[in-house]
Amino acid sequence: MIIAIDGPAASGKGTLAKRLAEHLGFACLDTGLLYRAVGRDVRSRGFRLDDTWAAVAAARGLDPVSLTDPGLRGTVAGDAASIVARIPEVRAALLAYQRDFARQPPGAVLDGRDIGTVVCPEADVKIFVTASPEVRARRRFSEFQAFGMDVAYETVLADILTRDARDAGRPNAPMVVATDAMLLDTSNLSIEAAFDAAVGLIKRKIGQPGR
Ligand code: C5P
Repeated sequence: MIIAIDGPAASGKGTLAKRLAEHLGFACLDTGLLYRAVGRDVRSRGFRLDDTWAAVAAARGLDPVSLTDPGLRGTVAGDAASIVARIPEVRAALLAYQRDFARQPPGAVLDGRDIGTVVCPEADVKIFVTASPEVRARRRFSEFQAFGMDVAYETVLADILTRDARDAGRPNAPMVVATDAMLLDTSNLSIEAAFDAAVGLIKRKIGQPGR
C-alpha cells in the first residue's frame, strides 16, 4: 500500500508522514531529503546549484546512507534543494529510488511535492497537507527560537513564500494538488489533531488498513 503526502514547506507533512508510518507499520521516505542531499553534494564539489551537469551527476551518484546527515535540515539546505529540484534531469534521476521505496511491502508513506502526481500517481491514499503561509512561518520561527537562532519572523515568512512560488511555479512536476487527493488544512490543528484527522481520511478512503 502506498500513502502519498504532499504539501508546501512547514505544512506539517513530514511529522504527519512519520506518525502515520509508525502507526501503520510502514516504511517512510522524506523525499525532500533527496533534493537537499543533491544540493549539498553540488555545493561541496564547488559547483553552482543551477549547474545542470553537476546537479545531475550528484543525483545519479546519490548515496541514500547520506540522507541521515543532520546538515540537511534547515532553510539553507531547503532553499538549495528547491533550486536543484527545478532541473528535470535531476527529478528523473531520483524517480527510480522513490518508486522502488514506495513498492516495498507491507506499505510505504512518502512525503514531498509530487508524490501523488508524478512519483506514485497510483497511490492508494493521497493527502495534500496545507496551512496558511503565516501559520507555517510562525511554526518555523518557533523552531528557530527553540534552537536559539536569531532570525526575524518576517524573514522566515519571506523565505516560505519564495519557496512556495518556486515549487508551485516550476514547469516540471510542480507542487499541485492531485485531482484525487484529500485536503488537510492544519492551520488550526495540533500535531495530534492533524494525525487523527489524517487517520480518519485514510479510513474513509480504504477502510481499516491491515484488518
Ligand atoms: O520537503 P522539503 O522542504 O524538505 O523539500 C525541500 C525542497 O525539495 C522543496 O522546496 C522542493 O523544491 C524539493 N522537493 C521536490 N519534490 C519533492 C520533495 C521536495 O521538488 N518530492
